[in-house]
Amino acid sequence: MAEFEYDLFVIGAGSGGVRAARTAAAAGANVAIAEDLYLGGTCVNVGCVPKKLYSYAAHFHDAFDDAAGFGWHLSEPPRFEWATLRDNKSGEIKRLNEIYRRMLENADVTLFDARASLKDPHTVVLKNAEGNRQEVSAKKILLATGGWPWVPDFPGNQYALDSNQIFDLERFPERFMVLGGGYISVEFASIFNGLGSDTHLIYRGDLFLRGFDDEVREFTRTEMTRKGVNLHFNTNIETIELVGDVYSVTLTDGRKMEVDAILSATGRKANVTGLGLEALGISLDKAGKIPVNERFETQVPSILALGDLIAGPELTPVALAEAMQLVAHHFSPDEPAPLNYAAIPTAVFCHPNIGTVGLSEEEAREKYAAIRVYRTDFKAMKHTLSASQERTLMKLVVDDATDVVVGAHMVGDDAGEVIQGVAIAVRAGLTKKDFDSTLGIHPTGAEEFVTLRTPARH
Ligand code: NDP
Repeated sequence: MAEFEYDLFVIGAGSGGVRAARTAAAAGANVAIAEDLYLGGTCVNVGCVPKKLYSYAAHFHDAFDDAAGFGWHLSEPPRFEWATLRDNKSGEIKRLNEIYRRMLENADVTLFDARASLKDPHTVVLKNAEGNRQEVSAKKILLATGGWPWVPDFPGNQYALDSNQIFDLERFPERFMVLGGGYISVEFASIFNGLGSDTHLIYRGDLFLRGFDDEVREFTRTEMTRKGVNLHFNTNIETIELVGDVYSVTLTDGRKMEVDAILSATGRKANVTGLGLEALGISLDKAGKIPVNERFETQVPSILALGDLIAGPELTPVALAEAMQLVAHHFSPDEPAPLNYAAIPTAVFCHPNIGTVGLSEEEAREKYAAIRVYRTDFKAMKHTLSASQERTLMKLVVDDATDVVVGAHMVGDDAGEVIQGVAIAVRAGLTKKDFDSTLGIHPTGAEEFVTLRTPARH
């Protein structure tokens, strides 16, 4: 009889957990997974997927405006119905939940609809919704419980919604406020603005999207303002009061505003509550993340962790890559080369979108003795007839000594789609000469990335 019931027990069926479970099972391991909320985790249920669907919905606003210059006239003014969008989104997510369930079944992964915690280095305690308790043993246990949104402490913070709650609002907020200057804040400001809310973004610093290329941040500020988002920087929420069914918000600069919904998009914390880490001697680092080695082993080597629980970018593709790497370490005969976290491309689905890979201009200046910056901003061809004033920014950052393109940035339509291709070149370490010798696809906006000839600055 085997020493343990399972070779791998995964806690959490989000992007990283499901990928690890399926990949380990495909490698011949006997695998189980526990989830007590929803299959697919944050990304599928309250993150990437519904956010992108809502972003599509918001883009129609511009499309209706742009259409007239191309000869299209709407017989009635367009009318937006929140319940249709919300409920269609929920239907699609239900479909995806089922696909996840079937994928696990087809991979021969045993699924427990239960909340799991650690008892010892090889034992998991499971409690289901009916309160039944069960213990299972596993040679290795993978913690893949992801992150959970966090709301700062201020009077009235119970009235602030988090990103788990914002998708399913009963009523559409005619006046919407979002706190924070990161990914979720700018994305939801663009979504609700596009859907028709009077939208206010509140950020404590000088300029949102800290850590992104400064020119990208400035450009995004201009474009989001042009689209009608009210940006309030160098301020914060001091209090929220509920007056009737309206939220009265007082800002730290003394201003007061009345809104119908407030989203706190102020970051996420590792979701470790109730896992039982402390009793096993697994401590968290200063950022509240679980320290792991190259093999994703925690301080207890039979217990592994990945994704948003550990240090590194909180991005689905990172969790997926870590899952496959972890399985290669623990369930395949050969040790893989360490995972390379360099030049991870990312997109922010604000309007217009941001796509970026590699170093910002500021980071490149720190790292290299001399750099060249190539950049262009222009009105996309579509907007010659649409009358929209929207502009597109494209930018390459080059190490002068080697000619290697170390960063590529875009703000504009489908920036994520464009940058995904450029990311291959940046990741491969190609030179500006390689970009120059690549022929453009005409007429596209993306061709600007291979036709930039004169440095804007050194
Ligand atoms: P971020 O970490 O991106 O941003 C958090 C924001 O909240 C920052 O602007 C921060 O300010 C601000 N903040 C933090 N604490 C406070 C406070 N006490 N009072 C006021 N403001 C505060 O987190 P998000 O919640 O936006 O997103 C979480 C993560 O999810 C992202 O980092 C990203 O990795 C991932 N994500 C990815 C997406 C994508 O790939 N498109 C989309 C959405 C999320 P400051 O800058 O001053 O610290």
